[in-house]
Amino acid sequence: MKASQFFISTLKEAPTDAEVASHKLMMRAGMIKRLGAGIYNYMPMGLRVIRKVEAIIREEMNRAGAVELLMPVVQPAELWQETGRFEAMGPELMRVKDRHGRDFVIQPTSEEVITDIARQELRSYKQLPKNFYHIQTKFRDERRPRFGLMRGREFTMKDAYSFDRDVESGTRSYQAMYDAYCRIFDRMGLQYRAVAADSGAIGGDVSQEFQVIAETGEDAIVYCPTSDFAANIEKAEAVGLIAQRAAATQAMTKTPTPGKSTCADVAELLSLPLAQTVKSLVLATDELNDKGEIVKSVVWLLLLRGDHDLNEVKTSKVEGLKNGFRFATVGEIEDHFGTKPGYLGPIGLKKPVKVIADRTVANMSDFVCGANEADFHLTGVNWGRDLPEPDAVADIRNIVAGDPSPDGKGVLAIQRGIEVGHVFLLGTKYSEPMKATFLDENGKPQPMVMGCYGIGVTRILGAAIEQNHDERGIIWPNGIAPFTVVICPIGYDRSADVKAAADSLYAELMAAGVDVLLDDRGERPGAMLADWELVGVPHRVVLGDRGLKEGHVEYQGRRDTEASKMALAEVAAHLR
Ligand code: ATP
Ligand code: MG
Ligand code: MG
Ligand code: MG
Repeated sequence: MKASQFFISTLKEAPTDAEVASHKLMMRAGMIKRLGAGIYNYMPMGLRVIRKVEAIIREEMNRAGAVELLMPVVQPAELWQETGRFEAMGPELMRVKDRHGRDFVIQPTSEEVITDIARQELRSYKQLPKNFYHIQTKFRDERRPRFGLMRGREFTMKDAYSFDRDVESGTRSYQAMYDAYCRIFDRMGLQYRAVAADSGAIGGDVSQEFQVIAETGEDAIVYCPTSDFAANIEKAEAVGLIAQRAAATQAMTKTPTPGKSTCADVAELLSLPLAQTVKSLVLATDELNDKGEIVKSVVWLLLLRGDHDLNEVKTSKVEGLKNGFRFATVGEIEDHFGTKPGYLGPIGLKKPVKVIADRTVANMSDFVCGANEADFHLTGVNWGRDLPEPDAVADIRNIVAGDPSPDGKGVLAIQRGIEVGHVFLLGTKYSEPMKATFLDENGKPQPMVMGCYGIGVTRILGAAIEQNHDERGIIWPNGIAPFTVVICPIGYDRSADVKAAADSLYAELMAAGVDVLLDDRGERPGAMLADWELVGVPHRVVLGDRGLKEGHVEYQGRRDTEASKMALAEVAAHLR
C-alpha cells in the first residue's frame, strides 16, 4: 500500500469525550469516526485492524472444526418470543417494526436463529457434533455506551454455537473452543486471564470469560496467584466463596423508623458510621402495585470494603430478617435492575432501586428501605442524588485482596479486566423450549446440548491498545497491526536515490508477502514519523540520502528506544 493512495487522517488532539487511552488514540489515529452514541464508522486504518483480528479468529475457529455461516442482522421477533427473550432482554434489545407492523429485533446475539437452523437441519445423532459460527454486526442498546469501540452499541462479534448429543460431548466442544480462544488471544499478543463467570442473560451452567488485563477495564476479576483459582468478581461472590464475609451480609437488626429518608438514617439503622466508615448497607426494595401496596419485598445487601469488622456485624444482626426477605448477590441485583451496583443512576430504571458507594444510596422516588412491614419502611425521595460514580467496582464488593482463596491454596488478588471473550456450556436452555431435537441410535428424539462462544471483535482493538501504547501513540502487536512495516523515505519527492531505494525495498517486501506501507506523501520527516508512531506500526524503516551512501537504513521497532543501522540488503530478511 502506498500512503498517497491510502486514507490517513491523524489528529493532534483527541475529542474531549474520549476518556480512556484506546478511545483517544483510535480517534487521533483516524481509525474510527463517531456517528452517534456508541456508533462508529470504521475508517480504513481501523478496518485493517478489524480484518486482521477477524482473520486470526477465522483461522483458529476453522482449525478447531467450527463451520462458518452468516445469520441476518435483522431477525423476526417470533423466534425471540419462543424463548421468552423478546421480553426478557429488556431495553438492551433493539426492537423494530416493518411496514406491516411486524416485530423484528436487531440481533444482539444469535442463539434463537442458530437453534432454529439446527432443529431443521440436524436431525440425527450422525450429524453431531456441529459447531457453527459467524462474524456479524451486533446491536445492543447499551445503557452507557462509552470508551469508543470498547462498549459500543453497534459492534462486531464472532459468535459460535455448538450442538452435541450429550453433556459429555458438549463438554468436549466447549473445551475445544476454550483452547481455540487461548490460541486466538495468544496470537493477538494480548495478556489475558480466563475466569469463571456467571452466565447472565445468555443462561446455562458453566461459563468462563476471557479478560484482558487493564486498569481501565470495567470488570473486576479475582484470582489466586499461587493456584488456578480465577473468577470474575460477581461469580466469586455468587458462589459464596468468601464464606465468612457472605455470612456477614446478614446484617440487620433494628426496626426501622417510619418516614426516614436519608443515607445517614440507614447508617444509623445499621449502627454503622456514615461516610468513610460505612461498610455495609442493607436496603429493601419493594415492588408496589398501582395502589401503592407492597407486592413483594427483597432485601438487597451490599458490603463495602474497608476496616470495619464484618464478623461483628454478622453475630449481632440475624434476627432482623423478616418473612419474605432474602439477600441477593450482586449478580442478581444487576439482573434485576439492569445495571451494575456502582454504575447506577436514577434515570431509566424501571424498578425502585438501590445502592452504593462509600457514602451511598441512590435515590428513587418509590425507594423503600427497611423491614417488610406496614409502616416500617424508610421511604426516600432524595437518596444521594448526584453521587459521583464509584471509580472501582471492586471497592464496593464483598471481596478484598488478601482474602483467603476458596481453594485454600493462597490469598486472592484483584485485577481489572476487559471482557473480550465468553464461552458458555448452555445445556438445553434453548434446545428445550425451541424443540431442537435429534434422533439417537434408538430413534428416540433427544434435545441437543448446546454451547455458545462469543468474541468481541471490535472491542479487541480497544483492549489491545489499553495494553499497548505509550505517550506517542499505539503499539500494535504484530499480528493485528494495520500495517506490519512502514517505509519512511526522507525526501522521497526530492532525491532520486531515496525514491529508487524506497520503491525497490517496497517492491521486495511486497513480493515477500510483508504487509508494508510506503509513505510516499513527501511529508516533513517529523510529521511523518509522528504519524506512524501514533498509528502504531510495529516496524519502521527510515531511508535517507546520507545512510544510503553507506548502504544502510535506520530500522526501529515501535518499542525500541532508538533506531539502529541496518544494511539495506538485509532489511527484507529481517522483516520477513
Ligand atoms: P459486557 O459484560 O461487557 O456487557 P456481555 O457479557 O454482555 O459483555 P456477551 O453477551 O458475553 O457480552 O458477548 C460476547 C462478547 O461480545 C463479550 O465478551 C464482549 O467481548 C463483546 N461485547 C459485548 N458487549 C459489547 C459492546 N457493547 N461493545 C463491544 N463489544 C461487546
Ligand atoms: Mg453486556
Ligand atoms: Mg459480561
Ligand atoms: Mg459475557
